[in-house]
Amino acid sequence: MTPYWSALARDLHPYVPGEQPRIADLVKLNTNENPYPPSPKALEAIRAAANEALRLYPDHEAKALRAALAAYHGVTPENVFVGNGSDEVLAHVFAALLKHEKPLLFPDVTYSFYPVYAQLTGVVYETVALDADMRLRIADYRRSCGAIILANPNAPTSIAHPLGEIAALVADHADIPVVIDEAYVDYGGESALPLLAGHANILIVRTFSKSRALAGLRVGYALGDAGLIEALVRVKDSFNSYPLGAPAQAGALASVEDEPYFQARLKDVIAERERMTGELAGLGFEVLPSAANFVFARHPRLAGGDLTAALRARAVLVRHFAKPRTADYLRITVGAPAQTGRLIQALGEIVGL
Ligand SMILES: *Cc1c(COP(=O)(O)O)cnc(C)c1O
Repeated sequence: MTPYWSALARDLHPYVPGEQPRIADLVKLNTNENPYPPSPKALEAIRAAANEALRLYPDHEAKALRAALAAYHGVTPENVFVGNGSDEVLAHVFAALLKHEKPLLFPDVTYSFYPVYAQLTGVVYETVALDADMRLRIADYRRSCGAIILANPNAPTSIAHPLGEIAALVADHADIPVVIDEAYVDYGGESALPLLAGHANILIVRTFSKSRALAGLRVGYALGDAGLIEALVRVKDSFNSYPLGAPAQAGALASVEDEPYFQARLKDVIAERERMTGELAGLGFEVLPSAANFVFARHPRLAGGDLTAALRARAVLVRHFAKPRTADYLRITVGAPAQTGRLIQALGEIVGL
């Protein structure tokens, strides 16, 4: 800190991303990246976009990408907002839609960026406790509030919430915005997409970083009523009109158009998740039921922090959240089979000690 800092910068509590260290032979299962490469068609489109046209600003409305996403999801381009990763989309959502006199509600155990955005954008919030099994209780949200944001499937718990209850929540709160962060929905959650037609208050946020293996490209989007999207565009155009470069727009579009590759890689990761869950259970772990590309697991004897350190000593990285309700758990990304093999071998040594 220096005297030049603003009070805002001084008082922030920034999000801490999972580390990206350079360790030889590393098994990296700490940031929910996809173990498989992006669609070859996406890579081809990104390379083709690296031409002299980069001299020009990109399309600030990302018209082609928004049209492709609209067609893919059965909505119109006016229902689609795109941004530089869903983290940026979420930051705009906080400023444009979640700041009201009454508090924003979100679970006590959820994506740890939410309180960070709330602080940055001056959003008053209250957390609502998940139950003892780390599940959402929709009834607990039946109270006066300014807005609601949920991740479904939730992170880092990996647990999906049924569409019927999300529908009830959205209907209960027709007078306030309800945001559903579907970063992991492709891995087995039920999307809230069917609710878009009848409800002007629901916004769905998605990302290309996990299921589409494009975390490095930085593309996320939101789907919702044109009225909600307009508010996001107003914030975006007051912040950075050109969040997505031309290569990012082209690569994302090509990824959306390569459905067979997308479906095949989803199947691979889901199959490996089930295999890994079985192996972890065999070592005595309790694994929460996952609908994501990661699992949340704890061992009855060994503390989460100790396990994380022992794995790191064996060049296996997992994520640990040292907060009261999550300290026992490891969040482990589903990797390729060889990575699971290394993880299970390392855990076998550690558990057997
Ligand atoms: C990974 C993640 C995001 C952010 O993804 P981007 O890479 O910024 O698109 C958003 N929400 C949740 C719950 C996530 O896990």
